Amino acid sequence: MSVNMAADTSVAGELGIYACPVCKRLLRQEEGVLHCPACSKAYPIGEGIPDFILEELSRSSDPVLRRMRFIDRMAPIYETRLWYPIVLNLYGGFRSPSLAQLISTVTRKVQSVKGRVLDIACGPGTYGRRVASPSREVYGIDVSMGMLRQGAAYAAKEGILNVHFARARVEALPFEAGQFDATLCCGSLHLFADTVVALREMARVMKPAAILSVFTFAAGSGGVLKFRWGREWSRNHGLHAFELPEMEQYLTASGFEDFQPEVSGSILTFSARKQAA
Ligand SMILES: [Zn+2]
Repeated sequence: MSVNMAADTSVAGELGIYACPVCKRLLRQEEGVLHCPACSKAYPIGEGIPDFILEELSRSSDPVLRRMRFIDRMAPIYETRLWYPIVLNLYGGFRSPSLAQLISTVTRKVQSVKGRVLDIACGPGTYGRRVASPSREVYGIDVSMGMLRQGAAYAAKEGILNVHFARARVEALPFEAGQFDATLCCGSLHLFADTVVALREMARVMKPAAILSVFTFAAGSGGVLKFRWGREWSRNHGLHAFELPEMEQYLTASGFEDFQPEVSGSILTFSARKQAA
């Protein structure tokens, strides 16, 4: 009895929030794994990072997920000038905001939020690390273990305690419904195979009226995305540039309202709120 109680106490820590991505029941921590009491699945924890993706992504039908080894290897340069400015200028145009400006725009929208913040496709915690604070506990998920390990290393070096990483897919989030006060989704919404499926799963784990803060790409006036051929070429490489009415339609279909877009070149930042209950 006392042994079980000790085990239950350890689950109440930062790992206590995680639920089975398949059946959404809360998981139990047992010897280096998170175990689902309902469907018996066991999710390994490596270097403090739970792994909720049990399938081999290199055999995925999704072209973005098949490139996982490349994405893993890119982790150390992701926040440097070797990556972000090149991507922003190529797709968004030469007058695109800098990474620092994007971080400021996106994080300002969640500045007044207290509680739990979900960072979707968090990479090395590029945005999530900057909003983590004693009053804001950040949970980052990404499909790349290389990115997550880099994020954990940055957070440790920077002394940031309020950010936690897990490997999971946006379509199957390892959380119970109604857990988050805000969600960030930066540099990834345009990559998901089905935008509405991804947005619906984000809405599921958010509280009513919680804010969603996004940076993605629009069919705007900058970079290759201002051209039809550029948008088609990008789409063939798994990047979908959104039209604004289309984005609003996807948000409404997923349970969001109060769409507030800002477009600069072909860079789209926006906020929206989960519909109140
Ligand atoms: Zn389960």
